[in-house]
Amino acid sequence: MKINSQSMKLLNEQLIVRILVEKGSLSQVELSRITKLTPSTISRIVFDLIKMGLVEKGKRIQTSALGRRATSLLLTKNFCSSVVFNVGVEQTEVAVGYLDKSTKKLYTFPTGTLSSFIEKVNEFLNLLRNEQPVSSKYTSIVFAFPGIVDPQKAEVIYAPNLNWRNVKLTELIHYNYPIFADNEANLSILAESALSNDVKKFGNAFFLYISQGIGGGAIINNKILRGARFAGGEIGHTVVEARSNTKCHCGNYGCLERFASLLLPITEYEKNGKKLKGKTLGEKFDSLIKMNNIGEQRAKEALKGFLYYLSIGLINIVNTFNPNVIILGGDSNSIWKNFGEELYKMISKRTMPKTLEGVIFRDTIFDKGSASIVGGNMLAIEHIIETLS
Ligand SMILES: [Zn+2]
Repeated sequence: MKINSQSMKLLNEQLIVRILVEKGSLSQVELSRITKLTPSTISRIVFDLIKMGLVEKGKRIQTSALGRRATSLLLTKNFCSSVVFNVGVEQTEVAVGYLDKSTKKLYTFPTGTLSSFIEKVNEFLNLLRNEQPVSSKYTSIVFAFPGIVDPQKAEVIYAPNLNWRNVKLTELIHYNYPIFADNEANLSILAESALSNDVKKFGNAFFLYISQGIGGGAIINNKILRGARFAGGEIGHTVVEARSNTKCHCGNYGCLERFASLLLPITEYEKNGKKLKGKTLGEKFDSLIKMNNIGEQRAKEALKGFLYYLSIGLINIVNTFNPNVIILGGDSNSIWKNFGEELYKMISKRTMPKTLEGVIFRDTIFDKGSASIVGGNMLAIEHIIETLS
């Protein structure tokens, strides 16, 4: 871009919106200090951002020990930056996101077949305008999928557990706003990189998304690993039993997700007729953890194979991606809390020397299923910033 006063103004606007997204509310004085722009430049830009409907004046806040007070500036919640469809194999969650990174879940519906799914999404989007504060200029529609997605074209290339192929969303969804789509694990690591200090600090992290299947999202040197055909980080389809007869949805045999998805320990526990409490996979898995924690032998047995293969998956992540942070999430957000010690013992026996040094393992900071929603909203916010004019 040629630098003239107009493009300079745009760069400064983008900078200020980015800082407000990152830090939350700030005063003009604080913005001036952070950006090193003069107070009068800040004033002019803030005036324009208020006129564009992106920024609002908030409460007067104390900004120094001497009791000086200044008006805080915040990103508006008058419109939603995104409507996110978080597509799971069983259910799809619908949520809205705002410029300040907050999100709100609205409701869920059974995902069903591709045609019924598309019908429901179009139906919902028709009603949306009356129910939610959408902006014809700024609101994007974002889809999170369990599978391989071309984010530039918003096309689902292949979602094995749904058996959907080559779904061109822009041709099927009737809506005048930008449509984005990405893999749920990629969006989850994006959310963690926007809100977690460890991922921000290191820029090398892996999100292991465990639900009905297993997905993976990697950030390497601060960039999402996509690969030539957008299947970068698909750890769920790495082979962990080379001579296995267990067929995977992807067509291969012995894939990690056929041994370490949440379905495995639940099916194992329920195979003799005893049912676990809960409707969804995540709820049932929580019940299984509870049974395990009160010492039920049957639950312990059911979890054994799952934890063994999960440790194999984690070893492969450490040895392949060499991340600083490994995050477990998806339909459970307490696997590491409950089984971290046991998993770490197994992992430390089999990783290459030095690769495990200082690696942080943890559960996601987000509620079940929320990481991909927050990540989807981050994608929409980035689009708003990039297309400011
Ligand atoms: Zn597979």
